[in-house]
Amino acid sequence: MQEREERTEYLKWLPSIDELLKTGTAKKLIDSLGTKNVTKLARFAVNSLRRDIQICTLEDKEPTYTQGNLLDEVEKRLELAFYRGERKNLRRVINATGVIIHTNLGRAPLSNRVAQEIFEKSSRYCNLEYNLENGKRGKRGIQAENLLAELTNAEAALVVNNCAAATVLVLTALCKNGEAIVSRGELVEIGGDFRVPDMMTQSGASLIEIGTTNRTRITDYERAISEKTRLILKVHPSNYRIVGFTSTPGIEELANLARQNNILLYEDAGSGAILDLSKYGLADEPVISHSINAGADLVTFSGDKLLGAVQAGLIVGKARLIENIRRHPLYRALRTSKLIYAAIETTLSAFRKDTAIEEVPVLKMLSVPLEMLRKRTEDFVCRLEKKVGENSNLKFKIVEGESVVGGGAAPAVRPTTVLLRLEHKNVSVNRLEKSLRLAKTPVVTRIMNGCVLIDLRTVFNNEERELLEILSEISK
Ligand SMILES: *Cc1c(COP(=O)(O)O)cnc(C)c1O
Repeated sequence: MQEREERTEYLKWLPSIDELLKTGTAKKLIDSLGTKNVTKLARFAVNSLRRDIQICTLEDKEPTYTQGNLLDEVEKRLELAFYRGERKNLRRVINATGVIIHTNLGRAPLSNRVAQEIFEKSSRYCNLEYNLENGKRGKRGIQAENLLAELTNAEAALVVNNCAAATVLVLTALCKNGEAIVSRGELVEIGGDFRVPDMMTQSGASLIEIGTTNRTRITDYERAISEKTRLILKVHPSNYRIVGFTSTPGIEELANLARQNNILLYEDAGSGAILDLSKYGLADEPVISHSINAGADLVTFSGDKLLGAVQAGLIVGKARLIENIRRHPLYRALRTSKLIYAAIETTLSAFRKDTAIEEVPVLKMLSVPLEMLRKRTEDFVCRLEKKVGENSNLKFKIVEGESVVGGGAAPAVRPTTVLLRLEHKNVSVNRLEKSLRLAKTPVVTRIMNGCVLIDLRTVFNNEERELLEILSEISK
């Protein structure tokens, strides 16, 4: 009884909201959230401690805090409440999954230089639609579009909101009330509800399916051409592959057929690479300039897949067609912002300088030599061992495994990688994965064969120190 009374004493010692708001933690939080919000969180923190004390009293349990550290305890709870709230906001996460173009994590990451240039070029006013030479209205985004045309060897280019928008726009502007011929092997769903037949319906184009799932011949295309045919659509199957007894005509063959019949050849390339990436195992990703050189009239692809920039739909091809598309009223609804143009222009300039492999994060992650990744992982483990010491609950081991390109690119290509395998003495693998995900800076990992895996391929160098901190916190 004596003890129980002592425990209710804790309630009297409970810090007040005012006291809590004067602590260093609260002051720091006030800077980012404002007093009103932090007061709400402080009330929540104090109430949660009060509830715990009451439960301890009722259940006659020994609390883990003393009179002296009640303020520390409530300060800790305030910080936790803050981070719980933060998780509902958009925030940077550490991608330790090894999936380079991770759609759920925002696809392509940007380099510091690109982030800086976006800020520099487009955060205030810029010549987005203004010609500095003559002081008159200019063509929106023409700087990025010229560069895009140059790098893909196309006559002209146009940038819209994303590749799905580009597809709908091209089909609406050029094929509404007409027919588009597509091979049955290319009537794909890309994910995130992008389905080729649905895009057709949206655009008012009639879909003429030809061939079979695995084989489509040039004569299938030829036979399907009618008065109403406006174009042949070739779709890159992206996240899916048909292997074995397969065949489909190449761009050049289709382009010839289209030209002879006065119709267009339009390719939706999806990931679409600017550079030939076969050296890195990506042999069947269409290189945009190859498609243009082979005679495609229009090609569309995404800005945030293998290009390594931001969400955008890039349309390249014949100048006359691009002009028609630009003038279509739907373009106004699908056009993109100055920030996006700045990101694309800066990313493309790395391709022009021939430094894209070193500068564009997606390509850098894709091309990093295995030995370099091994060395990096070994160094990281050394630092981790030093930090957590001998008696850590966290056990780690370096193993080989596979990374994933992602973003619907090269589903069959899995670059060999070096992984850090984690196990915790007292915590289940699912709890370990969760605690990393709920860390101050969330760390997203994958679980395989009962272990949490960390793939440094997709972790930026300057995130390593943060990751070390988080792991050492968890090792306790
Ligand atoms: C990814 C993809 C799309 C959709 O691109 P978003 O930029 O995500 O809209 C369309 N077509 C193909 C072939 C794709 O691979």
